Amino acid sequence: MTILQQLVELSHWLGAEHRELAILGEGNTSALAEDGKSFYVKASGTRLMDIEEDGFVRVDLQKTLHALEHAEENDEATRAALEAGRVDPNEKKMPSVETFLHAYLLSLPGIRFVGHTHPVAVNALLCSRQAEELIAGRLFPDEIVVCGIAPLWVPYTDPGLPLARELRRRVEGYVRQYGVLPKVILMQNHGLITPAETPQKVIAATAMTVKTVKILLGTMAAGGPNFLAPHHVERIYTRPDEAYRQQIIAQMQAARESVA
Ligand SMILES: [Zn+2]
Repeated sequence: MTILQQLVELSHWLGAEHRELAILGEGNTSALAEDGKSFYVKASGTRLMDIEEDGFVRVDLQKTLHALEHAEENDEATRAALEAGRVDPNEKKMPSVETFLHAYLLSLPGIRFVGHTHPVAVNALLCSRQAEELIAGRLFPDEIVVCGIAPLWVPYTDPGLPLARELRRRVEGYVRQYGVLPKVILMQNHGLITPAETPQKVIAATAMTVKTVKILLGTMAAGGPNFLAPHHVERIYTRPDEAYRQQIIAQMQAARESVA
């Protein structure tokens, strides 16, 4: 199966109505193309549930990263950068306004597919006053295995360039703290992002996050969450060694310098 075919399948899985992850034009998906220099991203105005190959726009990775670094935060500059990033000069569709965020995530080591959704269950938490404190602890072993040591929290930010830049700042901080990339990104009053190497891992992290949040909100009916003790978490989670942490940071710095 081609990468674009895999991306279509992933989008249909994330957009299926009964999963309640996205309705109408909500959410978007992307994948690094075979050449590693461009990526496919959902066109604006399309729906995950029934998108086909022609619903994606092929975008130049370096050009989009350059805009992420330098473009002004206004509608004209954003639109110009999105148009200029398109690989096919005859392309008429506009890439999603979240293309910058996808470009950044796909530039990270080992990330090839990105799923972004607005799940009902997850947003019930992300739109709550106590969201940030409630995600501070881990609840059960499989959450740690599939979703990692902690989700990355991103405070509410305007869509487009501002959100992509805030997300980049937060991912860099996360890597400094944990030595790995986040598997789950939670955006306040907005939704979920799961960057991964394969579509299967995007789906796994999405499904496990929905389950975790349902359980978390369920605990509120019975006295609140009983987080796993740190030594139990440590036993399940294998910390990366310092060499790996340095390697990830160096790769991220090199990627950023190449567009500076
Ligand atoms: Zn969104």
